[in-house]
Amino acid sequence: MSRSRDKHPSLRSKERPELALKRRHFLASGLSLTAAVTACSPPVDPQRYTQEDIDALAAQREREARQRGRGPFGEQRYQGYRGLASLPWFELDGDRQLVLVDESIPSAIDFHAHLGISVLFRPRLDLLARTERVIHLLDCDGVEPGCELDLDIYINGNFDEEALKGLGHNTLTQALWGNAKLRSHTIPNLLHEMHTMNVSHSVILPIKVGLPFGDHLTEDWRKAINDAGASQRLIAGLSVHHDDPTAIEQLHAHAATGARVIKLHPTVQQFYPDHPKLFPIYEAAQSLGLIAFFHGGRAGIEPEDRLRYALPRHYEGVLKNFPKLPVVLGHAGARDSEAMLELALRYDNAWLGLHGQSVTMLDRIIDATGGRRLLFGTDWPWYHIAATLAKILICTDSPSRRPLREALLRGNALELLPELTA
Ligand SMILES: [Zn+2]
Repeated sequence: MSRSRDKHPSLRSKERPELALKRRHFLASGLSLTAAVTACSPPVDPQRYTQEDIDALAAQREREARQRGRGPFGEQRYQGYRGLASLPWFELDGDRQLVLVDESIPSAIDFHAHLGISVLFRPRLDLLARTERVIHLLDCDGVEPGCELDLDIYINGNFDEEALKGLGHNTLTQALWGNAKLRSHTIPNLLHEMHTMNVSHSVILPIKVGLPFGDHLTEDWRKAINDAGASQRLIAGLSVHHDDPTAIEQLHAHAATGARVIKLHPTVQQFYPDHPKLFPIYEAAQSLGLIAFFHGGRAGIEPEDRLRYALPRHYEGVLKNFPKLPVVLGHAGARDSEAMLELALRYDNAWLGLHGQSVTMLDRIIDATGGRRLLFGTDWPWYHIAATLAKILICTDSPSRRPLREALLRGNALELLPELTA
C-alpha cells in the first residue's frame, strides 16, 4: 500500500437540500419507469400503512440530517467518487480513474447489481459496448470537482433536487428512447469497474416490471452476458411477475437454465411480500433451492402510494412461512433499517444486503449481527462500486473488525453461492 493518510476530504459544510427528497420522483432502489407506464393501484388497507409508519419515515430523515457526520467515523464527505482516493485504500490512476490499490483487501462478490434497463419500446442498447466512462445514475464524477458524496447518510440523500429532477426525466426517456447514461450501463463497462475495484463476481438482478410488452430483462440480460462470454463473472438472476399466470412456469424454466437468484421488488411490482398470492412463487423458489432477493424498506423517493408495500413487517410472513428459503432484504431496509435489522435478527433465513446504509448505521448493523448474513452490494449502475466498498472498509478498519472484512465482502456470499469458489 503506497498511500499515506495525509489527505482529507473537504469538510465544507453546505446546506443539503434534504427536502428535495420529498419530491415524489419514483426511483425506488433502482427502477423508476413503472410509475409512468403502469397506472392503477389496488385499494389501500389502512392497517398496511398507518400514521405511525408515515411519522417513522419523517423521523428517520430528521435524525439523519441531525446526526450526519457525528457518528463513530466523523465527517465522511468526499468530492465525488474520485474524492474517495483520499481514503488509504484507493488512488487515482493516470486517467484520473479511481482504483483500489490495497492488495490486502479480499476480492469481493457484489450481490446487488444491474445492467442498463431497456424495456417497453426497448430502445436500442448495446450491452456489449464499451463507452468512455460509466455515467452512474448518481453521476458524481461528471464535473470537476465531483459532487458532494456523503457516506454518512442513506445514499440517495446525495441526489440533490436538480439530480432527482434529471433522474425523473432520465428514467422516462430511458424507457422510451434511451439516453447517454443508459448507453454506458453495459457489460464491458461493469467488468472494467469490477476490475478496478477487485470485484470477482456480480449478481445481476433483472426485474419483470409488469408491462404490457417489452418486459424481458431476464432473457435480454442473460443472453447479453452469454454473448459477452461473461457468465463466469456475472451471475444472471431472474424475475417473474406475480400477476402473470405463467410465472411459476417461467421460474422453473429460468432455474433449469441455471438462474440461482430471484429478484422481487414490492414497490415496483406493487405487492405486499406476505400476500398469499406470492406464496406459490416462494414455494417454488424454496423447492428449487433459489435465493430470494427483495428490495427491502422505503427508499423515501417512491410515489406516496407505493411506500406501503415495503415496510419491514410485511416481510415477516415470508421469513416465517418459508424457513428454508434464504431471503435477502436489500438495502438492509433502506430508510427503515432499524425495523429491518430487528426483524432480520429474529430469523435464521434473513440476510441483509448492505447497499445504501450510512457508515454509522452499517457500524450498528455489524455490531448487532456480528457480521453474519450480511452481503456486499453496490446497486450498480446507480452508484459507483467504490461507494459501498469504501463504507465497508471504513467500518472494518479497526483491528477487532478486520477479520470480518473477508466475510462481508466475500465469505458470506459464498455461503449462498458456494459454486463461485470454483
Ligand atoms: Zn437495485
